[in-house]
Amino acid sequence: METTQSSEGDFWRERAEQLEGALDSRITIEQAKGVLAERLGLDIDGAFSVLRGAARSDRVKLHELARAVVASNETPVTIIRFLARHPSFLRASSRDERAVRTEQFFRRVNETMRGELGNGDGQFLCECGNIACNERLALSAEDLRVLHSADDLFAILPGHEIPEIETVVTHNGYYAIVQKRVG
Ligand SMILES: [Zn+2]
Repeated sequence: METTQSSEGDFWRERAEQLEGALDSRITIEQAKGVLAERLGLDIDGAFSVLRGAARSDRVKLHELARAVVASNETPVTIIRFLARHPSFLRASSRDERAVRTEQFFRRVNETMRGELGNGDGQFLCECGNIACNERLALSAEDLRVLHSADDLFAILPGHEIPEIETVVTHNGYYAIVQKRVG
């Protein structure tokens, strides 16, 4: 009698835990959508497309990727890699809604694009600090590699520099290289 009761109790406890786990996953996914929407300036549907697309292409579980997104201010490499392959998601983002667009973030996306490009010439994303910028720049993968070997150098479109925080090191008709000042 007692064993039956307790195994039934185990059954329901397990069921409750499963349901709770499923609910936790749903909540985490909703949170991750919100975080990505804010970070990338996308609407919620767009953020979900990025999350789902990234999870699929790296074959990771959606809720696990969602947890990684929520857990850190650093965007997971799975997301970065997906954006590097599908930069149209970033270009589609609305100018006003994009709350956080750091040079560092776009530098990571560009680095990933470069890695996939090999030695070819590419269209990279402008790495300027202007949250409204959606533009691209033409730069060879090799030039970008050399540039990014220094931590404080960024490739931007000429005129996109922010003099308060950075100095133009060199520029040509296509792009400028800025050095971010520390402090
Ligand atoms: Zn720019």
